[in-house]
Amino acid sequence: MSGITFLTSADLPPGVEGVVRAGGTDLQERLRTANATPHILDLTGIDGYTSVDRDDDGTRIGAGTTIATVARELSDDYPALAATAGALATPQIRAVATIGGNLAQRTRCWYFRHPHTACLKSGGDSCPARGGRHLYGVVFDTSACVHPHPSSIAMALLIHDAEVALAGGQSRSVAEVLGDGVDPTRDNQLGDGELLTAVLLPAPWPDERAAYHRSISRFEAEWPLVEAVCRVRLDDGGRVADCGIGLGGVATVPLRMRAAEDLLRGSTLDDDTIASASAACTQRAEPLPETGYKVPLIEATVREVLERVAADQA
Ligand SMILES: Cc1cc2nc3c(=O)[nH]c(=O)nc-3n(C[C@H](O)[C@H](O)[C@H](O)COP(=O)(O)OP(=O)(O)OC[C@H]3O[C@@H](n4cnc5c(N)ncnc54)[C@H](O)[C@@H]3O)c2cc1C
Repeated sequence: MSGITFLTSADLPPGVEGVVRAGGTDLQERLRTANATPHILDLTGIDGYTSVDRDDDGTRIGAGTTIATVARELSDDYPALAATAGALATPQIRAVATIGGNLAQRTRCWYFRHPHTACLKSGGDSCPARGGRHLYGVVFDTSACVHPHPSSIAMALLIHDAEVALAGGQSRSVAEVLGDGVDPTRDNQLGDGELLTAVLLPAPWPDERAAYHRSISRFEAEWPLVEAVCRVRLDDGGRVADCGIGLGGVATVPLRMRAAEDLLRGSTLDDDTIASASAACTQRAEPLPETGYKVPLIEATVREVLERVAADQA
């Protein structure tokens, strides 16, 4: 990425606040509802910002790489990430939305997006969804905010132990950038003006088996009610040598299902193991009055991806 000058809000005239735009699929809607500053720094067109580069250590995806490119170009070596990318939103959105913008997108809670409602993320002092309508809300109630994190890509990157590179040269793990989701005022832990320049993936697993599934209230053009992604590497005896299970739509950050992963490691992917691992994903679920339906949906969604991985069907 040498030779590239990244603009940040610091490049705006004194006293003027700005926001960067990548594909604009989240930002434009927030501008329409007066939920973001009108001063925009457009990132599209920056030379080298959209390339995918591989070496022996892994793969570097420029933050401006579109979701469609991720789905298309990474399907052989990172099938879990590619399947997640290929299923989100619509073909039109995937063609312009970027991996950096996807990670940094703001919550899709209807109270946050409403121009005449204040919530904890828009300067208010309470969460109107908690006492109001929260049908699409969290099941793991760990924050004063009750709307799930919107990024499917972040969920997939968690199970790849991915990092992000930032303008200025530092890198941080995706888990660190997401944080624990407890602070109700934030969607991520990026600092003001902090710019993602790339996503960094460790080397792919040989013969990775992967599956992604979303339980959704309509065919497409909607966030999932619950989504799950799984990647597995089997040893020569057909036992799980390594695995990752990510869950989205259920908490203010995407979750990695470590307890379920521990159950899978060292086991064969038989019916009993799949049932126990799927059930483990609902441990500590604490649904809201309107989100109890998501508890069985979590178990069914995880079971779906595990069964597909067992059958080696993406
Ligand atoms: C109908 C519909 C359905 C959708 N379904 C899903 C879904 O199922 N799963 C899912 O994950 N998403 C979904 N989306 C959201 C969509 O994927 C995001 O809007 C998109 O990924 C954002 O990327 P962008 O490049 O357009 O970002 P922009 O809109 O340009 O930016 C989004 C935010 O990120 C910031 N930003 C952008 N680039 C950077 C950077 N490099 N560094 C730091 N900050 C940056 C911007 O300032 C802005 O605040 C859906 C959207 C729609 C409209």
